Amino acid sequence: MARVLVADPIAESAIKKMTDAGLEVVVRDKDADGPIVEQIKGFDCIVVRSATKVTKEVIEAGDRLRLIVRAGVGLDNVDQDAAKAKGVKVMNTPEAPTVSVAEMVFAHMFALARNIALADSSMKDERWEKKKLKGVELWQKTLGVIGFGRIGQAVAKRAKALGMNVIAYDVVDIDSICKEFGAKRATLEEILREADYITLHVPLLPQTKGMIGRKQFEMMKSTAFIINTSRGGVIDESALLDALNSGEIAGAGLDVFENEPPTDWKLVKHPKIIATPHLASTTVEAQARVGELTAEKVINELA
Ligand code: NAD
Repeated sequence: MARVLVADPIAESAIKKMTDAGLEVVVRDKDADGPIVEQIKGFDCIVVRSATKVTKEVIEAGDRLRLIVRAGVGLDNVDQDAAKAKGVKVMNTPEAPTVSVAEMVFAHMFALARNIALADSSMKDERWEKKKLKGVELWQKTLGVIGFGRIGQAVAKRAKALGMNVIAYDVVDIDSICKEFGAKRATLEEILREADYITLHVPLLPQTKGMIGRKQFEMMKSTAFIINTSRGGVIDESALLDALNSGEIAGAGLDVFENEPPTDWKLVKHPKIIATPHLASTTVEAQARVGELTAEKVINELA
């Protein structure tokens, strides 16, 4: 019988699913159990979230270890090189938050388009500022999607349902996916120049760090809104602040920041900004899906 060590808390339903599939599941008790480097012996699989560090020592001590599953997105706490060297498979659940993040993009888009945050705060101050808060529609506007992977595609699908024209840019070939989603493939420059709404869905890499900076803001429409739910650092924050102050763009929705929490709150406090504290994947459903997908992956590999 394959044995699974669950080292960080995951949903009870995920543990039941693995047990029902015939796996022996042991939930680690950090206080009572010894160091993980000793406990790992005899297990085929370890499941972690972000707390437990699966170091080279842990991997080498795992005499039966063949699978590491990170329940969640990042893999910073797993030594992937050591796993590869020992032939241990590493998996995570990056697909779990896709719908939640895509929906958050629209929460930001509608909030920007209709001045929801300003309207709400002025109402709470007992002011009725109907004339000052005229909005714009999403219908028949152009949405530029930068990074057309899981989340970018989920956004495109929903944008089509709202009657938006979708243009998409990616470094990989997305011709057939664009066709499937009714989107038009575009260059980065076309997106910057043509889009009314721009949404970022790229990973943070040396090539994407600061990819939206002064030069890119200059190309955008003065009425454009930009939304970032990918990673802070993809947008150059000081260039964004200048672009908002000079009227180069109309506003921005930010879920992610160069520093989290921000060390400088100027950008967050700007009236043309809607800010959320890295909330895009924080939903009941996305968190439940992490457990379900983790169990499915473990069962597929081991049962
Ligand atoms: P994905 O891997 O499915 O898609 C990313 C896409 O970006 C890929 O198609 C890739 O080819 C493309 N890409 C890479 N470099 C590029 C470049 N230089 N220019 C254009 N495109 C480029 O990832 P995903 O699941 O869609 O996630 C997208 C982003 O969202 C990631 O940065 C992820 O960390 C972030 N994310 C944020 C939250 C949140 O809570 N805010 C939650 C989940 C994911």
